[in-house]
Amino acid sequence: EGSDYLKRQVSSATNKNIVAEALPTVILVGRPNVGKSALFNRLTRRREALVYNTPDGHMTRDIREGTAKLGDLRFRILDTAGLETTAEPNSILSRTAGLTAAVFQKCHTVLFLVDARAGMQPLDADVGKWLRRYAKSLHTVLVLNKAEGIHSDPSGKLLAVMGEAHSLGFGEPVAVSAETGEGMTDLFDCLQRLLGKAEIHVTDQEAELQFQDADSESSVMDSMTIPLQLAIAGRPNVGKSTLLNALLREERVLTGPEPGLTRDAVRVGFDYKGKQVYLVDTAGWMQRSKVEGLVALGAMHARRNLMRAHIVALVLDAEEISKAKSSMRHSEAALARWVTQEGRGLVVVVNKMDLLSGKDSAAVREQVIRAVSEEIQKILPQVDGVPLVFVSALKGRGRSAIMNRVFESYEKWCTRLPTAQLNRWLAKVMSRRPSGVERGHGARIRYITQVKARPPTFVVFVTGSGRIDESELRFIASSLKEDFNLSGIPLRVLQRSSE
Ligand code: GDP
Ligand code: GDP
Repeated sequence: EGSDYLKRQVSSATNKNIVAEALPTVILVGRPNVGKSALFNRLTRRREALVYNTPDGHMTRDIREGTAKLGDLRFRILDTAGLETTAEPNSILSRTAGLTAAVFQKCHTVLFLVDARAGMQPLDADVGKWLRRYAKSLHTVLVLNKAEGIHSDPSGKLLAVMGEAHSLGFGEPVAVSAETGEGMTDLFDCLQRLLGKAEIHVTDQEAELQFQDADSESSVMDSMTIPLQLAIAGRPNVGKSTLLNALLREERVLTGPEPGLTRDAVRVGFDYKGKQVYLVDTAGWMQRSKVEGLVALGAMHARRNLMRAHIVALVLDAEEISKAKSSMRHSEAALARWVTQEGRGLVVVVNKMDLLSGKDSAAVREQVIRAVSEEIQKILPQVDGVPLVFVSALKGRGRSAIMNRVFESYEKWCTRLPTAQLNRWLAKVMSRRPSGVERGHGARIRYITQVKARPPTFVVFVTGSGRIDESELRFIASSLKEDFNLSGIPLRVLQRSSE
């Protein structure tokens, strides 16, 4: 039986994978009130309220230290919020500078926090200057905090702040919300790469490839050398184990220790037509009791485990859909939304199609297919064409359909388009656009570039005062999807003003 085999592999690999702890250190820096403490608390899972004001208005906190967990990454984290006095902004910097010079020597990465709600403030630029001076040997990640809802905000205000933040000169900001946990997957990706470089124990060639990918303008083929991380998610009894066994039955099972920082995780995977697929959290999932299953799909716990996934296959039960009023339960819809919001690929697998038999079977199948398609469209209007696959894991039908959709989405997700090609395309698209193009408030589109893959993220540079309308960005996004075959995955288009 596949699953027993898998369990044995997992436990033997776990035993071999005991490595001494030597955690790299990440330090949180930013002007007061950007949310350093909130992020510290989230990453260290502290929930208690902090009391910090003394009667003279000075905070009494010091540098706080904790062990952070993000997905399955672990690192040491320092919070410098305690060094600040809100009364004298300038002295914060000098005081902090004095105290942190020594601390910085022990650090590997700085998380430079700014506030999406407040927008960029003069003090943010000061912190930036100061970091360039005192922390120049460290990696710095610009974190745009309080950005909950950024990828679904119709006003586009938060996205505009993202552009402003970029002008601080620390690269593309990672948008997060310390309060709701949004964007933690992006932060995870970023830290996984950076901290992975700090690792003494990285021997895995794949890990190296993965770290290089982020910085280089690599082609699609380069990105494809990173093995796909797939999660199979769904409520209990929808057929996840059956499906997994069907997938593994005919393939070569691969196991090995996780590269990078993960001390306790083991990768289990298989080889599909010569391409490697690693399964996310299968070890934990298989050991979890049947009863518990993934009941708490929408809960933070399950989400944390899914952070590592590139593509999530959400399994639904066709028989249940044929009987229910709504084709997706609340927890399933919540998971689908989360996957998209975090910029991951989603493939919806409707299992147990064999149970839709009987005299009306054709009509019932039609109805199930329609219900699921409509529901997905309703839940995720911004991602048109989420792949849907209708299968029977028990009968072993649909295995290759699933894997083909999964790899298609993964390829799209890794796509990189050269700037020259994009701008030739943009000129054509804009000339086809009926008059009133580049509407907006005195802003004109100058050019477009792809700033990252996984998911594909584009920046439209505009000149003039103000910003172009959100409808224009949506039009560019949908044209990109259509013309470059990028539908069905989350895709991001930001705007930024260029002088
Ligand atoms: P610090 O001074 O940088 O440590 O900032 P705090 O962590 O004390 O947060 C300052 C304020 O911002 C508090 O009122 C927090 O509740 C709020 N805050 C922190 N993170 C977020 C967030 O992600 N979203 C929103 N809306 N507010 C946040
Ligand atoms: P999990 O809890 O999601 O891992 O679900 P299981 O794989 O344990 O399956 C739950 C039950 O559904 C088992 O009795 C399976 O035999 C059954 N099952 C799974 N896939 C199918 C299918 O495609 N068709 C039918 N008829 N039954 C299935």
